[in-house]
Amino acid sequence: MFIETHAHLYFDKFDEDREAVIERAFAAGVNKIINIATDVESALQCIELAEKNAGLYATVGVHPNDGASLSSGMLNKLRALAEHKKVVAIGEIGLDFYWDTCPAALQEKAFRAQISLAKELNMPIVIHNREAGREIIDVLKSEGVDGLRGVFHCFSDTTALAMEVLELGFHISFTGNLTFKKSTLPAVAAALPLNRLLLETDCPFLSPEPKRGRRNEPARVVYIAEKLAEIKGIPLEEIAGATTENAISLFGLK
Ligand SMILES: [Zn+2]
Ligand SMILES: [Zn+2]
Repeated sequence: MFIETHAHLYFDKFDEDREAVIERAFAAGVNKIINIATDVESALQCIELAEKNAGLYATVGVHPNDGASLSSGMLNKLRALAEHKKVVAIGEIGLDFYWDTCPAALQEKAFRAQISLAKELNMPIVIHNREAGREIIDVLKSEGVDGLRGVFHCFSDTTALAMEVLELGFHISFTGNLTFKKSTLPAVAAALPLNRLLLETDCPFLSPEPKRGRRNEPARVVYIAEKLAEIKGIPLEEIAGATTENAISLFGLK
């Protein structure tokens, strides 16, 4: 059994066959899927999907690329939505210095406000990091990580940064880019303890080998788990067991 900790099944790319995609995941042994919001509208969609499907969960949060739009009214809306019993985290939040859609100062303001919300609600955070690992660590340290937990999703940074993430008590998850031919991430994954790792696809993006370049879907976390098993030199069942246990405890899944 596997847990897909980061999907965007509400994207219109899944409008034609969303239920079939979910069924394929369950058939592949992926029995829990967390859909990750990027704004208030998608948070509502994540919650709606979770209400319809026992194995689906939701997050609420505003992505750094949309950080400029985070008003106090929206923050109140997120707070109210987070009360829903299937909402398991605040996310995805963080910093993205790759896309030039939102000024860094506004991204940071939105990130800090949502860290405070997570602390207030005692919920984990799902962190989006694109070319901003150093700055994210600095924000976490200045906000204080006491009583704060979460995951650095789609980890694409260095082993040194991963070690700092572990020191802060956070988890790390890998997507399909772990499987790409020239990826430097296998060496990073090799250095990390199994009790901090999670699996995710970030679908519809980042489809793993051997399905690279196509629309991604939750069933394909199995390819990422297989790659991790190969890197660690341990049986697939051990990867499945550890990552499932980690996801259940981090997100408090029932
Ligand atoms: Zn992301
Ligand atoms: Zn995402």
